[in-house]
Amino acid sequence: MKALDELTFDNRFARLGDAFSTHVLPEPLDAPLLVVASNAAMALLDLDPAVAETPVFAELFGGHTLWAEAEPRAMVYSGHQFGGYTPQLGDGRGLLLGEVYNEAGEHWDLHLKGAGMTPYSRMGDGRAVLRSSIREFLASEALHALGIPSSRALCVIGSDTPVWREKQERGAMVLRMAPSHIRFGHFEYFYYTKKPEQQALLAEHVLNLHYPECREQPEPYLAMFREIVERNAELIAKWQAYGFCHGVMNTDNMSILGITFDFGPFAFLDDFDAHFICNHSDHEGRYSFSNQVPIGQWNLSALAQALTPFISVEALKETLGLYLPLYQANYLDLMRRRMGLTTAEDDDQKLVERLLQLMQNSGVDYTLFFRRLGDESAALAVARLRDDFVDLAGFDAWAELYKARVARDGEYSEEQRRKRMHAVNPLYILRNYLAQNAITAAESGDYSEVRRLHEVLSKPFGEQPGMEQYAQRPPDWGKHLEISCSS
Ligand code: AMP
Ligand code: MG
Repeated sequence: MKALDELTFDNRFARLGDAFSTHVLPEPLDAPLLVVASNAAMALLDLDPAVAETPVFAELFGGHTLWAEAEPRAMVYSGHQFGGYTPQLGDGRGLLLGEVYNEAGEHWDLHLKGAGMTPYSRMGDGRAVLRSSIREFLASEALHALGIPSSRALCVIGSDTPVWREKQERGAMVLRMAPSHIRFGHFEYFYYTKKPEQQALLAEHVLNLHYPECREQPEPYLAMFREIVERNAELIAKWQAYGFCHGVMNTDNMSILGITFDFGPFAFLDDFDAHFICNHSDHEGRYSFSNQVPIGQWNLSALAQALTPFISVEALKETLGLYLPLYQANYLDLMRRRMGLTTAEDDDQKLVERLLQLMQNSGVDYTLFFRRLGDESAALAVARLRDDFVDLAGFDAWAELYKARVARDGEYSEEQRRKRMHAVNPLYILRNYLAQNAITAAESGDYSEVRRLHEVLSKPFGEQPGMEQYAQRPPDWGKHLEISCSS
């Protein structure tokens, strides 16, 4: 275990120089105090969880003090936002404080979001509000607990600093961690500003630090792009299988590591709805739940365009062609597991599609359906779940197919089936209304609900006695909450 001042820094991105980022100091928050910290994220830095409660912790992550070895930098990037190219974005309200190594040799970027104005703030104030910081914190850690790759969150620091959004709110900072904060938009920036030398440096940096195994391949950059395609296909398959809607899949919000990144008006589905749009400024539904799949490919083509100086167009196209089949294979594999199947049959895809259509038509809760499907034998489970459906004939027909499929899958006890299915079907997910309850309490100074919710979501697959209220469908007020994009 380390004390806070014992972290080891090696700021490799900062060393790339001023063409890549600008030195900026954090602007401190007034009266910083701990809202919530993640013990699991603390462990990644070898930190004793108890240090989170010390005043120096809130001062560090509230922008008051810095380690001597930290080199706070605002990164420059650009990106396609809602399909149109924005030539310059960058860290407008976040700073890469530095890169830390843990005892296992892993390396983590410490990124402080809400740290004040930078040269890339454009019209913004450089701040983040408590509500969006709590949402990012909860989502990062909840996704990780579900087995979905994501940036992590160490803590949220609240404050008395007033921040103006639709109304006056309080400023906060969230400390985000990831092995890298490089986005697709970093490559686009150097490509469209025609800076081939810097672009080559960036590509070398990512290859050496994050895809070293690709160096052994005959065409290392092509191997790296292929790996990025594969990781995105896997990531988006997990989002779709678990009902996660990112909401703002602009290329500046896409991590070069294929992890969930940059949380805005995201949502987990309550009722299954393929057309769900969680971002209420997304009028066309570009980033609707089902569109995340083709948008994943669209974003990868935007990255491919920026990689044309390094890789032939034919090879890029061929590699992009792998995305959809890989996505489909990953998705089907996950959905088979969610249905309790251990073998593969050709018609499984149809079985999934029919089920989702029925769930869509009846507004069935996506998470609870799968959890309950594993509670008992297939026959008993479908008999009980039947009541949730409006189209009973349709459901009965599906249930017959499902029971026959389960019978062909193999012999196993009810207990084996329950264990296997509960290990992949969470009971607790970050429902919007749960986040909202925690935020409402936090805004009035009570952080116990954020902390409890974070704890519950850190073990999403196990029954937690006394926590039944976190595993319910939303009350009427909590359905289809509009999440403000101003964050
Ligand atoms: P986001 O929607 O959070 O992905 O941000 C898109 C771009 O706007 C990024 O360059 C952000 O740094 C910038 N940005 C968002 N909010 C603010 C803010 N309050 N102040 C300054 N820049 C911001
Ligand atoms: Mg962003």
